[in-house]
Amino acid sequence: MLPALFALALLAWSCYVPAMDDTTWTLVLAGYSLVLGLSVGSFLNVVIYRVPRELSVIRPRSFCPNCDRQLTPLENVPVVSYLVLRGKCRTCTTPISARYPIIEAVTAVLFVGASCEFAHDPRLPAIWIFVGGALALGIIDVDTMRLPTPLVRWHFGLVAFALLIAAIGTRSLHHALVALGCMVFWGGSFALVAIVAPGKLGGGDVRFAYVLGLMTGAFGAGTMLVGYFAASFLGLVVSLILIATGKMSTKQPLPFGCYLAAGATIAIFLSPLLPARFQL
Ligand SMILES: [Zn+2]
Repeated sequence: MLPALFALALLAWSCYVPAMDDTTWTLVLAGYSLVLGLSVGSFLNVVIYRVPRELSVIRPRSFCPNCDRQLTPLENVPVVSYLVLRGKCRTCTTPISARYPIIEAVTAVLFVGASCEFAHDPRLPAIWIFVGGALALGIIDVDTMRLPTPLVRWHFGLVAFALLIAAIGTRSLHHALVALGCMVFWGGSFALVAIVAPGKLGGGDVRFAYVLGLMTGAFGAGTMLVGYFAASFLGLVVSLILIATGKMSTKQPLPFGCYLAAGATIAIFLSPLLPARFQL
């Protein structure tokens, strides 16, 4: 029932939104994406904590990892609860990591940013799903050096579904074909590297590359190439800085998924600035 309603809402969005054009709409959308971004960020915290531990992301409700007490809905308000509780559990006063409100705030900023930049774009829901999933996967990769396969599959499925609805709404076969081509290019080239040079890329990176190719490709081949190179460039520059400052050794493996997520997200936000001939 719920997925069907979600699909209908996405379809309605794709058909009607491009026809609207006023600042009231942009403001309403920004407010909506702020609330949505904070809520999704709160859920991503659950995903980032539980998925690598192979726990359910639905049950049980959030609890304090120290005293096991379930949190009340009022203690679960994104960012606000952390500030009101001054970063401590109400019963056992164990400090709560500042990472939780930071992830919620970052998700909200990305959602509001996307809604301002793509206010009349039927691909906006796909961007929300993509940046949320990419943020969670990037952080899990830094934490565990792994990109959990079920999470990458969910990410791929939801992004592909939202892009399909957008393509149906706008009847744009051209964009869909370019996106599929980019998916094959990014995913296929990573798969080739994994075969030719075993150990250089993890299986998770290869699977994730298909999602990145599909999503950035929905904005044209130029955007896909910007993401492709931005990811490698970011990985190189950040690693060099970490090695130079002694925070990382040269033998340490790279959480490449984190840079892939960042590179693709940057490319999507930059895509409207690309010259028209690169927007294919
Ligand atoms: Zn506690």
